[in-house]
Amino acid sequence: MSTLSILATPIGNLEDITLRALRTLKECDVIYAEDTRVISKLLARYEIKKPLQRLDAATETKKAEEVIARLEAGERVVFVSDAGTPGISDPGARLVEAVRQSCEALREAGRETFTIEAIPGASALTAALSIAGIDVTQFTFLGFLPHKKGRQTMLKQIAASEIPVVLYESPHRIIKLLGEIAVHVPNARVTVARELTKIHEEVVCGTPADVAQSLENRGAVRGEFVVMVDTFLEED
Ligand code: SAM
Repeated sequence: MSTLSILATPIGNLEDITLRALRTLKECDVIYAEDTRVISKLLARYEIKKPLQRLDAATETKKAEEVIARLEAGERVVFVSDAGTPGISDPGARLVEAVRQSCEALREAGRETFTIEAIPGASALTAALSIAGIDVTQFTFLGFLPHKKGRQTMLKQIAASEIPVVLYESPHRIIKLLGEIAVHVPNARVTVARELTKIHEEVVCGTPADVAQSLENRGAVRGEFVVMVDTFLEED
């Protein structure tokens, strides 16, 4: 049965994988991965051996054609990004769009289509929100801010937001980002979740300046970060 499984992988701790995800990996014909070396570690841990193909942001559109050809041949294809849920600040959307379009064409031709299924699991976004301790009944997710064009506009959007804003950031840029947030909203409550599910997992809260100071006090800033900005404290 031709199936494309968009499968979430752990964001650090290799035990964060569902039974269904493991079964899907074991039963598939081929795994397309953002980086085959990264998925190899997970597969080795669970003693799964499968043919691996690379499909990253640069090759997504081209490789989608290859995936469609495999689905037409009746294969079960898995796609995984490096960590967490594909499509969330990761490749996956263009692959799914291309496969969905070919399903549409098959349907119009009266032919059998493919199944596209989600195999849900970890995401840094939901993991961070679950331990933020802030009301996230509603929130805005902006992912990574653009490095240049549009950055200032988005910082203003964060400052004006009436609901918490969630961002992803790398260790090289986290201090810069906190400095920019401090300029736009110095009294915001910032909650930074670092190294989720890993040995050095921690959550640091405070004003943007306090959080930056706290991270800098640790010496070299390492790890991966989810940044949650709550600017509407006085309304609580
Ligand atoms: N698709 C992934 C997901 O579902 O979370 C996100 C991929 S994005 C390229 C990578 C970013 O996610 C990192 O720069 C960081 O902001 C966040 N991230 C990933 N793993 C993390 C972790 N263990 N702790 C904190 N943030 C993490």
